[in-house]
Amino acid sequence: MTTPIFFGSEVYRGSSYGRWHPLRIPRVPTVMDLSRAMGWLPTAQYRTSPRAKPAALTLWHTPEYLDALSRAEVAQQVDDATRDRHGLGTVSNPVFPEMYRRPATGAGASLLAGELLADGGVIYHPGGGTHHAFPDRANGFCYLNDPVLAILSLKRAGARRVAYIDIDAHHCDGVEHGFAGDPETLLISTHEERRWPFTGALDEDGGGNCLNLPLPRGLNDSEMAEIRERLILPALAGFAPDAIVLQCGADAVEEDPLSRLALSNNAHFDILLGIMALGCPRLLVLGGGGYNPWSVGRLWTGIWATLNGHDIPDRLPPVGEAVLRALHWDRARAGRTPPAHWFTTIRDTPRPGPVRPEVAQRLAHLREQPAARGEMPEP
Ligand SMILES: [Zn+2]
Repeated sequence: MTTPIFFGSEVYRGSSYGRWHPLRIPRVPTVMDLSRAMGWLPTAQYRTSPRAKPAALTLWHTPEYLDALSRAEVAQQVDDATRDRHGLGTVSNPVFPEMYRRPATGAGASLLAGELLADGGVIYHPGGGTHHAFPDRANGFCYLNDPVLAILSLKRAGARRVAYIDIDAHHCDGVEHGFAGDPETLLISTHEERRWPFTGALDEDGGGNCLNLPLPRGLNDSEMAEIRERLILPALAGFAPDAIVLQCGADAVEEDPLSRLALSNNAHFDILLGIMALGCPRLLVLGGGGYNPWSVGRLWTGIWATLNGHDIPDRLPPVGEAVLRALHWDRARAGRTPPAHWFTTIRDTPRPGPVRPEVAQRLAHLREQPAARGEMPEP
């Protein structure tokens, strides 16, 4: 196994989308600090994410939008025309001090990841996974679409067939926009039904290369295990990609405030283990959503441990616990009295349950689609 590389950056430390925004919380710094505290992030495995220049971002984004985004960071305000046209300066995509630098750093790592994986390897980029942005528009807390840029970069560096798996609680509307109808890109998304952005219906197949699985509230680990074994892994095995990109959004777990799914983080670890066992030569794991500072930090650190084959201890040593005890979740009721295991563990207690008929039926429906066997539409 090649040694995985971790892409991080100090740009995430202390930067916030604003006092009331769900992304006021620290996420990537927790993963870096907790991984280092555990001895899991030696300098040889760490890379600082480079900040992408606008010219590099035109691989997918429009020059007009990139210009508006850069100007908004400098001016720290936008006019009404820019807000309407590009979705900047809204409640979900506010003006904030690092509004170009931070997403451009996430995009820079995704672009570089594609190049570094040219000869194979494993890269973890928890600051990535901003799957809602469009070519000329910010959307859903995302200013730049680094997963799209990663896939394009992988292809430019020689990967012909790329599979994109998205287990965030929200549908990956921007990524689907980028690759719908592309027979050399398989897209699989699991997401909560009747939740923003309201795309990703069961029958929405993007022309044949997209498998969308909307899921009911309360999704449990047993249901996700069925999805993993009966849909995700068989589709990947059939498609036989040169590269796999896993968007590992942390908002589908029980404690997340923005969704109503009820997974434990074991669901994410087990999907990653299943993907790793496929032996695909290039693997890029991205972050994504996740709005509870403890569940995000613990889940994404556990992902890094899993990529490296480190055993996750049942109880964290004091240096690890100290990282989690230092977190705050201001203006959130659940942040006032966090349960002890948010401080003392990485792995959640599993959350098994019945596989409900609607989940089984949707799974059966998708399994009949050619893409579920890795068969792609004619270009
Ligand atoms: Zn999400």
